[in-house]
Amino acid sequence: MWHLLAACVLSLCSTDPLDRLEREVSGFTFWEQSYEAPVGNSREQEYQRLQRLVWMVLGVQVQASATPGVAGLASREARIIAIDPTLSPNAALQVLAHEAGHILQPEGLSKAEAEVFADAVAYLVTGDDVHVYGRYLAGSKNGLHVMRAYRREIEWAARVLSGR
Ligand SMILES: [Zn+2]
Repeated sequence: MWHLLAACVLSLCSTDPLDRLEREVSGFTFWEQSYEAPVGNSREQEYQRLQRLVWMVLGVQVQASATPGVAGLASREARIIAIDPTLSPNAALQVLAHEAGHILQPEGLSKAEAEVFADAVAYLVTGDDVHVYGRYLAGSKNGLHVMRAYRREIEWAARVLSGR
């Protein structure tokens, strides 16, 4: 009983957003990975604000330029983030927060680890539906340990991108 309770307190019943995201990812199989881009423009102002913040704080310019099949791309060297201009503002906010997470990620991460870092940052910044992020990260399960090992860095990057 006490063991069960302790396990519950430590992870299963945690309301910490990163713990919730980790549980959500575990609910999908690797093969269900996809990005369900939201529609709508209710977050247009937040998107504009994040663009300004990324420029002022990180010196990174956000460009609306499409690469076929890619929602967003970040180049730390060129200080540029490219966002697919056909995305809705609500989706563009998620993609920009994700790409800005890549700009702030620690050195030496694998592809899967980098995806987990960037998407965990984006989840904290947007506070959007955990389902969207969980499903996207289903393809990066072998990088999931980053959410624990780099928890402080993820929370730090999210604070930077929230202007706090
Ligand atoms: Zn990415």
